[in-house]
Amino acid sequence: MTDKELYESLTYENKNAYLEMSEAEIIEMKTLCDDYRVFLNNGKTERECVKEAVKMAEAAGFSDITKKNELKPGDKIYKINRNKNIFMAVIGSEDITQGINIAGAHIDSPRLDLKQNPLYESTDMALLKTHYYGGIKKYQWPTIPLAIHGVIYNTDGEKLDIVIGEKDDDPVFVITDLLPHLAKDQMVKKMTEGIEAENMNVLIGGMPIKSEDVKEKVKFSILKILNARYKITEKSFQSAEFEIVPAYKARNVGLDESFIGAYGHDDRVCAYTTLRGILEESAPKRTACAILVDKEEIGSMGNTGAQSAFMMMTIAEIVEKLTGCCSVTKLNRVIENSAVMSSDVSAAVDPNYLSVSESKNASYAGQGVAIMKYTGARGKYDSSDANAEFVYEIGRLMDNEGVIWQTGELGKVDQGGGGTIAQYVANLNMDVIDCGVPVLSMHSPFEVVAKSDVYMAYRAYKAFFRR
Ligand code: MN
Ligand code: MN
Repeated sequence: MTDKELYESLTYENKNAYLEMSEAEIIEMKTLCDDYRVFLNNGKTERECVKEAVKMAEAAGFSDITKKNELKPGDKIYKINRNKNIFMAVIGSEDITQGINIAGAHIDSPRLDLKQNPLYESTDMALLKTHYYGGIKKYQWPTIPLAIHGVIYNTDGEKLDIVIGEKDDDPVFVITDLLPHLAKDQMVKKMTEGIEAENMNVLIGGMPIKSEDVKEKVKFSILKILNARYKITEKSFQSAEFEIVPAYKARNVGLDESFIGAYGHDDRVCAYTTLRGILEESAPKRTACAILVDKEEIGSMGNTGAQSAFMMMTIAEIVEKLTGCCSVTKLNRVIENSAVMSSDVSAAVDPNYLSVSESKNASYAGQGVAIMKYTGARGKYDSSDANAEFVYEIGRLMDNEGVIWQTGELGKVDQGGGGTIAQYVANLNMDVIDCGVPVLSMHSPFEVVAKSDVYMAYRAYKAFFRR
C-alpha cells in the first residue's frame, strides 16, 4: 500500500451524493422531488399538510385507528390530533415490547399569523395586523406576494377553510416597505429593527364605498365583500386562525435544476420524505411509526406539538388494540426499547457566509442527509445529545443501505444554534437522533434544498423503518 492509499484509508471525507448516485437513482430522485413540489404547493400550513397526509395515507391503505377495535401485524393505521398533528403506523410482526421505530417531523413553518382583531383602515387603505410565528428575519417578508390560509367560523356557525392567493387568477396580498429615497433613518437601523413587527400589516384593500353614513369606507367595503362571500363579520376573526404565507409555488432552482426553492422546506422536506417512507412500508418486523407535529417553531408547545401527550396516548392505544391490554409496565417496555429519528432539517453551509460555519463539522447541500448527534446552543444547552451506541448503529445502518450521509452541527460553537423535537422525545426515554436535509436560507420565505439530499433523506427514513 502506498502512503497515499494508506492515508485515504485512514482519513474520512464527505461525498457529493450526486456523484455517488446511479442513473436509476437520479431518475427516482427527480420523480420524488416533482411529487414533493406538488406536496409543498398543497401544504402551506400544518392543517393542509395533515389533510394531504390523510389523503396519501388512505390511498396507501391506511385507516383511522379510532374505527378499529383490534390490530394485527401488517395493519396500517393513522390517528389525527385536532387537524394539525398526525400519527401513522404499520404494525410489525415482532412482539411490540421489543420497541418500535418512530420518525418524527414537524409541519408548521415560520410565517405571519393574523391577530384576533386584524382589520383596520389607514390612509384610505384596509390592512390586517399580524403577529409573526417562529424565528423569522422580518425584513424578508415585505414586498413579496402573500397568500392567506386559514379557518374561520361564519355567522351560521359553519367552519370554513379559506385560501386566497394561490390560484393564478386570485389576488395576492403584500406588506409594503419604504422607498430607498425616504429610508435614510431606516437604513442605518440594525437589521433586527429595520422592519418592526407592528409595521408588518398586510394590505387587503383600497376601494372605498360611496357612503355619507360611514367613516371607514375602505374597511366597510372589505367587510361587505367578506360578508357576501363567506357570511363573516369583523367579530368572526376573533376565533379564526389565519396564516399569511408566500403566495408563490415551489420551483426548481439552477440551470441544472439541482435544487428546489420553496416556502416551508423546514420541515416539510423531512415530513414529506418521512411520509413517503412510512406509506411505502409493509410488513416490517418492528412496528414502524411516523408522526407529523405542529408548533415546533415555537418550542413544541401546545396539544398539537411534540411535547403533547398525543404520541404516548396513541402508542398506548396501539399496544392495547394489538395485545389486549396496556399496563404501565408494558408501555414502559415499548418506550424504553424504541428509537426515534427526529426528521428535521439542518443548516447547509452558505458559500456567501462561510465564516459562520466550522467547515469540518457543518453540513453541505448536496452531500447527503445530515445526521446530527446534537443540536442546541451555548455549550449544547437544550440538546438531547444522542448516545454513541445509537449514533454508531444508525451510521452503520445508513452505510449498509447505501445512504449518502454526513454529520452536521448548527453553525460554529457560540455562533448561535437551535433545537428540534429531539430533546422532548428523548425525555420519554427513547433513543433519538436528528436526521434531515441541509437547507440554505432557512426560515426565509424561499428556502433552498439540494434534490440529492431530499432523496437521501427519503432513503434514510426507509432504512430506519426497517431497522
Ligand atoms: Mn425544523
Ligand atoms: Mn425551523
